[in-house]
Amino acid sequence: MRTPIVAGNWKMNKTVEEARSLVFSMSLGLREIKGVEKVLCPPFPALLAVSALLQGTDIGLGAQNLHWEEKGAFTGEVAPAMVAEFCQYVIIGHSERRAYFGETDQTVNQKVHAALAHDLTPIVCVGETVKEYESGRTGEIVRRQISLGLAGVDPAKAAGLVVAYEPIWAIGTGKASSGENANAVLADYIRPVLAELFGVETAQAIRIQYGGSVTAANAEEFFSQPDIDGALVGGASLKKDEFVAIARAASKS
Ligand code: PEP
Repeated sequence: MRTPIVAGNWKMNKTVEEARSLVFSMSLGLREIKGVEKVLCPPFPALLAVSALLQGTDIGLGAQNLHWEEKGAFTGEVAPAMVAEFCQYVIIGHSERRAYFGETDQTVNQKVHAALAHDLTPIVCVGETVKEYESGRTGEIVRRQISLGLAGVDPAKAAGLVVAYEPIWAIGTGKASSGENANAVLADYIRPVLAELFGVETAQAIRIQYGGSVTAANAEEFFSQPDIDGALVGGASLKKDEFVAIARAASKS
């Protein structure tokens, strides 16, 4: 049995004050939901304030990125130890980072190793563009992203990874994949490549989220699928009622 994990990616939204009030508004509702790992991923400047608010709760905190080097002359970057001071999770290789900030499967791999070395749980994002989807290349793309992105990960640590399958055409578009289509990508490509890398048993233990226009209205469709273990949620994670309802739907799956 895999515990579902629902993570809210706030992206570049919320000042510290706004982050505080969003956490205040959703914290009680989230705390009442059991059997689901709940994670908030605010922007870097809000991590300290949000971590203070989450102390003593069962709600985890994640960053949206990290650098792989320990320290040094990397202006504007945030080192793994700095993330690990506040967070238990870190999103790696989000498609927006791949598209706008030059992240590659190789940098994803470096970041995954850095995160694991600091006992952070990486939420590793993979997914195909609309062009790749339409030309039937989804399997090839996600297999490549997983095998390069997770290369060299110690199989003993791999069970703790989280993978987020996020078809790029579904992110922020309101056009979610169908539950069946998303589950097929997980079952036919993602879990099999995880099994090739780490063995069948470990692949069965790794949580795989779906992400892409998940809302309270469609969450159940995803969570009722056998291979989908929760969601990475963008837009709806900024709305208290939506995010709490999504986490609640995961608790019933
Ligand atoms: C995301 O950015 O990870 C995401 C899934 O966004 P949205 O839910 O807004 O599509």
